[in-house]
Amino acid sequence: MTGPKRSLSGIRVTGRFHIGNYLGAGINYVRLQDEYESYIFVADYHTLTTKPNARDFTDDLYDMVMDLIAIGVDPERTVIYRQSAIPMVAELTLLLAMVTPLSWVQRVPTFKEKVRDQPENVNLGLFEYPVLQAADIIIVKGNAVPVGRDQAAHVELTREITRRFNRTYRPVFPEPQLVLNPDAPIVKGTDGKAKMSKSLNNIVGVTDPPDVIRKQVMSMVTDVKRTYKTQPGHPRSCNVCAFYKFFFDDWEHYWDLCRKAQIGCYDKKKLLAERIIERFAPFRERRSGLTRERIDQVLESGAERAHAIAGQTMVEVRDAVGLPPYFRA
Ligand code: ATP
Ligand code: MG
Repeated sequence: MTGPKRSLSGIRVTGRFHIGNYLGAGINYVRLQDEYESYIFVADYHTLTTKPNARDFTDDLYDMVMDLIAIGVDPERTVIYRQSAIPMVAELTLLLAMVTPLSWVQRVPTFKEKVRDQPENVNLGLFEYPVLQAADIIIVKGNAVPVGRDQAAHVELTREITRRFNRTYRPVFPEPQLVLNPDAPIVKGTDGKAKMSKSLNNIVGVTDPPDVIRKQVMSMVTDVKRTYKTQPGHPRSCNVCAFYKFFFDDWEHYWDLCRKAQIGCYDKKKLLAERIIERFAPFRERRSGLTRERIDQVLESGAERAHAIAGQTMVEVRDAVGLPPYFRA
């Protein structure tokens, strides 16, 4: 199994690209492009577990690809594609399901979270999600998987499924490695409780207009133990202060001011909003030059490249499993 080292990651189309996506994973999408043959897909199949009609998220899909390019994913160096452009991934999911013990999927914690988030639509796709994710990664023979910490358990499961497949048949796939951003733990949402998530109303956007970012930051839940500005704050347990660590080199100075009641929560949020707006200004600038036509081109060429790789993998997979080659009329 020699050949180019490949990195792969995916993102669902369930809302706007946010700071958690960027710090948790996006930074590494950009960094790994220099070292790896890189693949990023917009996970439209995965999105169907939440939104059953893909037409309902076509506009969001364009937005997402624009955001990816805006943050620095370069379509010349990274293959950007829609997951459904390679339907063979669905066949691979089915074949992987045959070597995946039910108990492995039952213990995945995100399933329980999704059941809580969308109790009205607990579908089998949601349950099978980690197996599809394994197929996404190994169909391009991914070696590195840049994702946020919330996805670590899924990547571990992918590794187990890969080992099981390789042992059952023959070593077709490399075992992918998790790539985390060590500086960013799971980023909390503006509610200060849940993980920042596109599908929850708790995000701070990355390429949203400055006024939207201001509004999102000003809505953040702050230090619950502090009622008045004149009381000392508790930066360790304050979500706004956690964001200072991401956006200010001299965050300790602000934490100190907060502890000494020399800066209030409102002012901290105002400063933070302006810093975020400034930091992401180049992304907004790059995004403003993108058109839908350009995105169509990117997705078409990405689909072609991803399809070719996935096709090669499936020839090997079908042979390993003992199935005949694809029928061609
Ligand atoms: P959804 O609510 O639909 O699950 P999401 O915001 O969790 O959306 P995903 O598309 O599931 O985003 O994940 C895209 C990438 O962003 C993944 O690599 C994931 O690990 C990472 N990520 C998502 N949220 C966070 C977060 N709050 N902190 C760090 N990384 C995150
Ligand atoms: Mg998620």
